[in-house]
Amino acid sequence: MGVFDAVASEGHEQILYGYDQVSGLKAIVAIHSTALGPALGGTRFFPYQSEDDAVEDVLRLAKGMTYKAAAAGLDLGGGKAVIIGDPRQAKSERLFRAYGRIVDSLQGRYITAEDVGTTTADMDIVRRETRWALGSSVALGGSGDPSPVTARGLHAATRAVAHELWGDSDLAGRRFAVQGVGKVGSAFVQLLVESRAEVIVTDAYGPAIDSAVEAYGVKPVDQDEIYEVDCDFFSPCALGAGLNAKTIPMLNCRAIVGSANNQLATDEDAHRLADRGILYAPDFVVNAGGLINVYDELNGYSKTRALHRVDSIFEATMNILQTAEEHGINPNEAAVKVADDRIKEIGDLRRFRRSGDDRN
Ligand code: NAD
Repeated sequence: MGVFDAVASEGHEQILYGYDQVSGLKAIVAIHSTALGPALGGTRFFPYQSEDDAVEDVLRLAKGMTYKAAAAGLDLGGGKAVIIGDPRQAKSERLFRAYGRIVDSLQGRYITAEDVGTTTADMDIVRRETRWALGSSVALGGSGDPSPVTARGLHAATRAVAHELWGDSDLAGRRFAVQGVGKVGSAFVQLLVESRAEVIVTDAYGPAIDSAVEAYGVKPVDQDEIYEVDCDFFSPCALGAGLNAKTIPMLNCRAIVGSANNQLATDEDAHRLADRGILYAPDFVVNAGGLINVYDELNGYSKTRALHRVDSIFEATMNILQTAEEHGINPNEAAVKVADDRIKEIGDLRRFRRSGDDRN
């Protein structure tokens, strides 16, 4: 596929390749849409097998951000960046500063933040070269680690789903199977335990299970057993594509709410879940808490304001579930529809440009 074919195939606006020979930086920034505002999305630092894999991933991730921001009602478009390399070996101040200059060259059309393989400390360095980097440390006026805020949004979404299913958003006594107790999963488990829910956990990394069991008194199961746990909620908080033709028949739950991005291996899996009577709360709606949190930095970070907005994931989730019912479609299709409708309705206004508007 030619380079322009790759950009055009999913309607992306722009792709930018950045290289610094001294530090070895190889960065790709993809802007999917600026219809609703500047394209905000984190920087993934990952040892891609090939440059084609990196391009494919960044284009897919950037498009996902457009939908996440639109469904959350934010004045943001969608973009993402990847840096090719092993984050345990390739990081240096020079590399992140060179990357910061590449981000800066887009003058706010793309705004970056942390993602898999990058940290708050890395964003602190990027920020030395550009003001278009969010998620830096609290000491520097940033919003810090987004994971506990993402967990808070998940909790709000879960209460909305409980309300939809049982007419009561109280989670006390509900049974959860949580797959992955890393940064988001463990914070979510804490909130569930505080809500007096019963929680069963697993993780691919033994010490993560041990610390969840020790901290919250939850029950562990083996990695392969988590899908079959008899529960009210299955919560994927590990990696993507965990819901697929092989795993969906194994599920023994009533609903799915989790933080992992791209939980469905294919769109067909949303139908598979619906056919089994399992209510799927779309990942990009329920895991938007981290994005909402960094977005607030654009107005001078206020934790109170950010958390207030994150709590509205309850209403956003209800809205998606009601849209699904009204239109006879599954919740994933409903979330895409809500986002598409917003992009069409509000994005169109952007043709009236303010003079001196430097945000996009
Ligand atoms: P993390 O790396 O801290 O935690 C992921 C955990 O999943 C790790 O403990 C890992 O060992 C475990 N894991 C990996 N594969 C597994 C498997 N097959 N079975 C069981 N456990 C497995 O990451 P995180 O920040 O907690 O993010 C979790 C997911 O949520 C990711 O998909 C991420 O993209 C998504 N997400 C995170 C945020 C955020 O604010 N951190 C926001 C939105 C979405």
